[in-house]
Amino acid sequence: MKTALQGLFSDELREVCTDAGFPAFRGKQLWDWLQRRGALSWEAMGNLPRALKEALGERWTPAPVKALREAGDPGGTRKWLLGLDDGESIETVLIPARDRKTVCVSTQVGCKMACAFCASGKGGWVRNLSAGEIAAQVHHVAAVAGGRPNNVVFMGMGEPFDNYDEVLRAVRLLNHPDGLNIGARKITLSTSGVVPGIRRLAGEGLQVELSVSLHAPRPETRRRLMPVEGRWPMDEVLAACREYTAATKRIVTFEYTLVRGVNDSAADAAELASRLRGFPCRVNAIPLSPVAEFDGEAPSREACQAFLDALARGGIEGTLRESKGKGVSAACGQLRRGAMRGGE
Ligand code: SAH
Repeated sequence: MKTALQGLFSDELREVCTDAGFPAFRGKQLWDWLQRRGALSWEAMGNLPRALKEALGERWTPAPVKALREAGDPGGTRKWLLGLDDGESIETVLIPARDRKTVCVSTQVGCKMACAFCASGKGGWVRNLSAGEIAAQVHHVAAVAGGRPNNVVFMGMGEPFDNYDEVLRAVRLLNHPDGLNIGARKITLSTSGVVPGIRRLAGEGLQVELSVSLHAPRPETRRRLMPVEGRWPMDEVLAACREYTAATKRIVTFEYTLVRGVNDSAADAAELASRLRGFPCRVNAIPLSPVAEFDGEAPSREACQAFLDALARGGIEGTLRESKGKGVSAACGQLRRGAMRGGE
């Protein structure tokens, strides 16, 4: 399998070129094509000699993702099934709003976390994506959907902190001032609660947004939904989040998927609020998106509002996030590998 050139910084590209016997300035040209102009093929890179493309092409590829299928939702959400160099596939989503575009990227083929309500883990974990495969998803969307996105959320398939090094490399590439230059505060990393990842991120000196999937006010309920609770219990997760907010002076967003009759009562909200009180955070409540393998339903709109009201009475700010793209199975928790059938 060939490695994505989009995963290399300018000095590394220079080294790749000089190692292959080409002048160093070719590395800078490659960087500009890949990260600034979003080239996703050798053909696109007009001013590079064929000999260089052939020499590098033995090990490296500028085309690590190729659109196999696309689906669009009437609300404007678009989803791509992207094929990788080894024949695996992932999904990437564009969520346009009036004045901004958000790209949701995958970080792994499959996922190990096996959350009960999430489609991404249903087929298990296959492999990690490289930084180049992650960055190339954003370049792909920029190329086919009208330019540079404003926000990138690491909320697609996979657990970002189970692929920490490649994810952080992708963040730095996307954030690079000589590349797409996506502001750190416009990049969100979302974790199911991998405590070592939260701790490491606190020391990176990056202004990225951190979201943590909590989904329950107490360990017993969380364990029913998220096996990761057995490995990193929510008290440890919350302690790591407190350290994170103390070290970075940033707030943490807790994601909370609302499942009718499981975690959506006013009492659940009150208990959650009391656990989070005095903590610089906000709660993002997401009504469950349907997933074939999970026997559960989203609460009614009124029940969602009642949950948020109870949170507010407990002193915690919460917002309801209507997950976009259900028409094409592109909403939270609905992404899978190799999944898109015709029209979906
Ligand atoms: N693995 C990371 C990144 C995924 S982000 C994480 O767990 O945070 C996707 C978000 O959607 C997570 O909060 C996830 O728990 C949530 N989610 C998963 N399945 C869902 C579903 N069926 N409905 C609504 N949200 C879901």
